Amino acid sequence: MLCLFAGGLYSASTTAVPKEPTRSVGLPMDGRLQQGAALPKRGQGYEVMDITMERRHRFGTRELVQLVADAGAQVLRKHRGIPLQVGVLSRYRGGRIEHHGSHQNGRDVDFAFYMRDRNGNPAKPTVFIPFDKNGYSVEPAMKYRFDDQRNWALVSALLQSKRADVQWIFVSDALKRRLLQEAENAGAPASLVRRAQQILKQPKESAHWDHFHVRILCPVHQLPECRDIGPTWARSKR
Ligand SMILES: [Zn+2]
Repeated sequence: MLCLFAGGLYSASTTAVPKEPTRSVGLPMDGRLQQGAALPKRGQGYEVMDITMERRHRFGTRELVQLVADAGAQVLRKHRGIPLQVGVLSRYRGGRIEHHGSHQNGRDVDFAFYMRDRNGNPAKPTVFIPFDKNGYSVEPAMKYRFDDQRNWALVSALLQSKRADVQWIFVSDALKRRLLQEAENAGAPASLVRRAQQILKQPKESAHWDHFHVRILCPVHQLPECRDIGPTWARSKR
C-alpha cells in the first residue's frame, strides 16, 4: 500500500522509499523546480540573508545547495571572518521571481561580496553594496572595500568544486579585473586563472557591480528536461 506524505512517496508496510531527487526543468529564465532542496539558514561559512528567508527564495537543486555550503566552508577555512552572505536562489517550485530574469529552476544563486570596513576588518553586508573599479563602495560612498582575497577564494572554491559545474559567475568587468589580478598575486595555477577568465562575465543587461550571480550547468542525469543556454564547457558526468 502506498501513501503520499510530505511530498514524497512512501510505502506504508515496508521501509520508506526515498524522496524523489530535486529536478531542474527547462531554462533558468523559463523553467521550474521539482522537489526543491532548501538551503538551511546557516552553515559552516555561510548565512542566508534575511530577505531571502522571508520570501522563501532559498530553494535549489541538491547540487546547487551543496555547492553553496561547500564554497562558504572553504573560504572560511582559508580566511576567518564573516560568513558568505547568500541572496536569492529559487522558489520551492521554481518559476518567476520579481525583479529577476532567471532564478527559475534552482540553478542560480546570488551572493553579496565579501568586504572590509575602513579599519580593514571583515564587515557583514545586510544588502548588496556596489563597488567601483578601485574596490571602494559606491553607496555608501568609500565606506567599505571589496575584499579581493576572500572574493577570489570564493571564485576559486566555486570553480574547483566537485558538487556542480559552474557555467557563469556574473560580475562587473571592473571587479573581474581585480579578481584576476588577485589570482595572479596569490599564485593561482594557470589552468584555474584561464577558467576564471572564461566564467567570470559581465552580462549585457546588468553590470553586477553589487553581487555575484552564479549559475550551474544541468547535471547530466537531468538532461534533456533540464536545459542549458550558452556554452556547456567540459561538463562532468555527475
Ligand atoms: Zn541573480
